[in-house]
Amino acid sequence: MKLHEYQAKEILGKFGIPVPKGQLITAPNQAEDATQAVHGPPWVVKAQVHAGGRGKAGGVKVIQTPQAVMTAAASLLGNPLKTKQAGPEGVIVRKLLIEEGIDIEHEFYLSMVVDRSTAGPTMIFSPAGGMEIEEVAARSPELIRKQHVNSGAGWMPYQARNLIYDLDPPFRPETANALVAVMGALYKVFLTHDCSLVEINPLVTTTEGKVVALDAKMSIDDNALYRQKQLLELDDPLEKDPLERMAEAYNLNYIRLDGNIGAMVNGAGLAMATMDVIKLAGAEPANFLDVGGGASEEMITRGFEIILKDTRVKAILINIFGGILRCDVLARGVLAAANKIRIQVPLIVRLEGTNVEEGRAILKNSDLKFLVAKDLAEAAELVAKQVS
Ligand code: GDP
Ligand code: MN
Repeated sequence: MKLHEYQAKEILGKFGIPVPKGQLITAPNQAEDATQAVHGPPWVVKAQVHAGGRGKAGGVKVIQTPQAVMTAAASLLGNPLKTKQAGPEGVIVRKLLIEEGIDIEHEFYLSMVVDRSTAGPTMIFSPAGGMEIEEVAARSPELIRKQHVNSGAGWMPYQARNLIYDLDPPFRPETANALVAVMGALYKVFLTHDCSLVEINPLVTTTEGKVVALDAKMSIDDNALYRQKQLLELDDPLEKDPLERMAEAYNLNYIRLDGNIGAMVNGAGLAMATMDVIKLAGAEPANFLDVGGGASEEMITRGFEIILKDTRVKAILINIFGGILRCDVLARGVLAAANKIRIQVPLIVRLEGTNVEEGRAILKNSDLKFLVAKDLAEAAELVAKQVS
């Protein structure tokens, strides 16, 4: 679960990390009030959407007059923001954060993530903060510094000093101390809220030598939400893809992707392999969907419905190796969905495993039109041919 910037900043502030003062608005007529409540000029108007890269897309504006803040609010609210991460359709901006402008001296990058290779949290710091951290990582990996946290000992202040001590130009002592404190607080935020990521980009030094978190991203491990009930209230379902939201309601593991081959598979491993084989055949998957081993006919129906609702899907591949999931249950689920929504794209089916004969018979005796593949490679080639 992701938090909005304004929600994450409130948490950071509570843990002692300096953040700019700001006010959230949801309608343009609240903008003037906000400019009175928040110190300026300049004010910074920030679109509150979960997708990153807002700055480059015009979703972060540094503004000099209350009038211009009102104009910016009117043009942003209710309209889509097309950031690099949001994709071509963009995301509708429903909330804006109006903040006091900060005099930036330098922009740093700071985050804590779960590092799978060390099976623990890792602090990442870079003197090259700002908007393009992915490019820094690709082009100048030496500018990205890491410190792994020993789970027994926890975060140690010397690790913070390791991250910053040899920078050129060196920090003023009070700035260095402030950075060490921010890192310690960041670790506490991360641990207390069962985060998978807390990212401050940029973390800035001001011309007065202060350290301020100018941006904040926070993701909570979904598996920990049962014990993070107060965070659950911060969930904003409107930020999620509508099809992903529907899948979540039916307990389906579904992730929307950019391609046009819809895929319905059982088992996460097989679903990953299926996506690989689709790509190998020269096509692009439209989604990841693992209907799971114990899927009911209802869940299959819902899963297939979700794929059919995705207007970008130009062909569908059903790849089932029935183990716990029986092929006859799958076939009935697919038919139920096909009865509700007309299938207008080619359908390729590869079925194996438990009750495969019954499953095949059910599909064959229906008026569903589909192609049968004898194995996965053939299935992928068939499906790729439909869109080439
Ligand atoms: P993102 O593009 O979605 O990551 O949005 P950010 O909140 O990181 O803002 C992008 C950029 O806007 C920052 O890297 C800063 O350069 C600039 N910015 C944000 N807030 C301020 C501010 O208070 N003062 C100034 N001068 N620039 C700001
Ligand atoms: Mn940022």
